[in-house]
Amino acid sequence: MQMRIGGNDVASLDDTWIVVTNPANGEQIDRIPSGSSDDVARAVDAAEMAAGAWKKKTMRDRGIILFHAAGMVREQHKDLARLLTMEQGKPLRESIDEVRGFANILEFYAGISAAVQGDLIRLGAAGDALVAREPLGICGAIIPWNMPVLIMGWKVGPALLAGNTMVLKPASTAPLTNIRLAQILETSGLPGGVLNIVTGPGEVVGEALVKHPLIRKISFTGNCATGQRIRELATAHLKDLTLELGGSDPMIVMDDADIDKAVEGALRGRFYNAGQTCTAVKRLFVHDTIAAVFTEKLKHRIETLKVGNGLDAGVEMGPLNSPAQHKRISGIVDATRDAGEGTILTGGSGLNDAPFDRGLFYRPTLIADVVPEGRLMNEEVFGPVLPVMPVPDLDTAIHEANRTRYGLGASIWTTNLHTAKRAFDEVNAGIVWVNRHLTVPPEVPFGGMNESGIGRENGLHALDNYSRTKTLFLNW
Ligand code: NDP
Repeated sequence: MQMRIGGNDVASLDDTWIVVTNPANGEQIDRIPSGSSDDVARAVDAAEMAAGAWKKKTMRDRGIILFHAAGMVREQHKDLARLLTMEQGKPLRESIDEVRGFANILEFYAGISAAVQGDLIRLGAAGDALVAREPLGICGAIIPWNMPVLIMGWKVGPALLAGNTMVLKPASTAPLTNIRLAQILETSGLPGGVLNIVTGPGEVVGEALVKHPLIRKISFTGNCATGQRIRELATAHLKDLTLELGGSDPMIVMDDADIDKAVEGALRGRFYNAGQTCTAVKRLFVHDTIAAVFTEKLKHRIETLKVGNGLDAGVEMGPLNSPAQHKRISGIVDATRDAGEGTILTGGSGLNDAPFDRGLFYRPTLIADVVPEGRLMNEEVFGPVLPVMPVPDLDTAIHEANRTRYGLGASIWTTNLHTAKRAFDEVNAGIVWVNRHLTVPPEVPFGGMNESGIGRENGLHALDNYSRTKTLFLNW
C-alpha cells in the first residue's frame, strides 16, 4: 500500500519501503513507504491547502461525512477486520469488534455535530461577548500497533468534526487498516488533504511531525519513553498535546464478589488482544478468603483458551505483534522466574512447536507468589501475563493498587456499594469500573493520571481538546 497525501496514493520521495508481516506465520502481507521528513512536509502542505475550506464547512456538514464513512466501514467490516487480524494478530472476532468500534466513534461525533454550540455572555452596559469554538489547525496523530483502528477513531473523529486537518502516522507493524480507513473516509466525501497518512519509522516520521512548525497539536498513544521524548520536542514549539501512555491497571476482587463473573472478567481483561491493551488487567488482587478458589478457577479457564492464528475459527488469543514484543514479554517472565519473584502456575514460555513455530505466540501465563516491589508488579507488562496477589482487606488492596507510577484504569469486583465507592474515591485511575473491565464506549472520556498521560480522548471532552474558543466582544 502507499501513503495517502492530498487525496492521492503516493510512495515516499526516496522510494524506500518497509515490509509488513503477519505475526501468526511470518509471511509478508504487503509493504509501505518508509517516509522521511520531506514526506511529512508534503503532507503538512496538503493539510494546509485543505484547511481553509474544511474549517468553513458547518459542523453538521462535517458530521454528515463522518456518518457516511461509518456506513461504508460497516459495509466493509469483514474485509477490514481480516486485514487487521493479518497485520496485528488478534482473533477475527476482536478485529470485527474494533472495526465496528471505529464506526461507533464516527457515528457518535456525527450525532453530536448539530448540537455543538457557542456561548453568549451578557455583560450589561459593557456589551455582550460571543464565544465561538474554532479548530486548532493542523493536528498530528501518532498511532500504536495494539489497537490501531480504535485509536485512529479516537483521534480522527473529534479532530475532523472540530474542523481540523490532520497528518497521521500509523505504527510500522500495523499500518494497513489505517490506510484503508483513510481511503474510505475520502470515498465518503472527505476532501483530499483533510486527512493524510504518512508511513515510516517513528524516530523519522513521528519526530518530523512533532517538530513541524505548522502542526499545532500532537496526539500520541504509545510507550512512556516515547511520550516523554515527544513532550520535550513539542514543548519547545509550544504545541498542544494529548498523550496516552499506557498503564498497569489493578483489578481488585473482594470476598463478596460473584467469583465466576470475576474469573471471566479477569480472563477477558487480561488476555483480550493477547494482553496488548493499555487498560488490560495487569495486576490482580484477590481477597485472601477466596484467593485459592478464584486462582484455581482462573488457571483452569486460562488453560482452556484456544491460542492460534486469529483467522482460524474458534481462536481466542493470537500471537504477539512483533519480535520485539515477544522478546520483551519472554524477558520479563524469565527475569521474574530467575529472581524468585513469582511462581508460574501456567504458561511462562513461547509456543515454538508446529503449527506455532513460524509465529510469535506466547502461552497465556498466570503467576502467583509475586513480590510487590518486583518488576512484574511495577512495569507495564504488555502481553498475556497475569500476576495474582492475595490481599487481607480493602485497605491493603487500595494501597497495592496505587503502588505504580501509572493511573489509567482500575476495577473493583464487589456487591457492596460502599466498597465500590471507596475504590472509586481512592484508586488513582482515569476510569474505575465496578464488576467490569476494559469497556470504553465512545461517550466515555478516556485517559489517565500520573505517568499514564495528559488529556482525555473520547466523548465530548475530546472535542474540547481539538478546538479553542475565540471571543467576539461587542460594545453595542
Ligand atoms: P512506541 O511508543 O515506540 O510506538 C508507538 C508509535 O510511536 C508508533 O507509531 C511508533 O512508530 C511511534 N514512534 C516511535 N518512536 C517515536 C519517536 N521518537 N517520535 C515519534 N513517534 C515515535 O511503542 P512500541 O511499539 O515500542 O511499544 C513498546 C511498549 O510501549 C509496549 O510494550 C507497551 O508497553 C507500550 N505501548 C503502550 C501502548 C498503549 O496503548 N498504551 C501502545 C503501544 C505500546 P514505529 O511503529 O514506526 O516505531
